[in-house]
Amino acid sequence: MQKITNNIYTETGFRGCNPGFVITTEGVVMIDTPQLPADAIGWRNEISKHGSVRYLINTEPHGDHFTGNYYFEGTVVAHEGTRDVILAASVKQLRERLGQTAPASLSLMEGFSYRPPTITLSQRLTLYVGDHTFQLINLPGHTPYQVAVYIPEERVVFTSDNVFGKVQAWLHQALPYEWLNSLKRIQELKADILVPGHGSICNQSYIPEMSAFIQAWIDAVAAAINQGMSLEEAQNKVSLLDRYPMEKGSEAMAQEVQRMNVARLYEVLKK
Ligand SMILES: [Zn+2]
Repeated sequence: MQKITNNIYTETGFRGCNPGFVITTEGVVMIDTPQLPADAIGWRNEISKHGSVRYLINTEPHGDHFTGNYYFEGTVVAHEGTRDVILAASVKQLRERLGQTAPASLSLMEGFSYRPPTITLSQRLTLYVGDHTFQLINLPGHTPYQVAVYIPEERVVFTSDNVFGKVQAWLHQALPYEWLNSLKRIQELKADILVPGHGSICNQSYIPEMSAFIQAWIDAVAAAINQGMSLEEAQNKVSLLDRYPMEKGSEAMAQEVQRMNVARLYEVLKK
């Protein structure tokens, strides 16, 4: 666990997203939850030292950000598109997946259910909790439903997976041009610290590098299309694995992520 300001903690070492929490004068506000049950329970124990959870904000519709909601109190807040995804998520499939990848989890999942948001936003929503402000801003990119959480009193932004901190990015549901624009909007926020969805903590000086990575993906797939490559050929040829490593714990998915990224961009750029 990393203390990044007087009132904000985050953890970049879990398998899955980087969850965080903010200590206010009226309780704790969480941003995303650990994916694995054992991590979620450990995280809950840490948080309970700082007060009870008032709100739990999910920044996006991927399971590594919301599966752990089950283990926490607090009112869940997320984009309405994220709510739809959570409502459609299958507990049976989750159990099967964890049975293969983290079998010890299953004993911690008795009574498990997905916990969807009961407050949603489509574009913006502001929560005032104690002496803190939480500006939730829909910034499409990694998916259409990404939400950045800006806490001006701490000069911190939780960016969601629109920022990957020096690790490979997932573009399998990307809106690439909106993503570039959203990165510009993140850069306009008055913040000293950015907590990316994955990878290491960074700051505004990293945004141009992240934008360049998305642009490099667009350029690589556009070049493949211009050379007349089929999707299969492009998937076999295009890889940006030399730029950044995979996040720790997902190394085995390296090729699959490259192929999914190419497939998504091929589809978008062909239009
Ligand atoms: Zn994601």
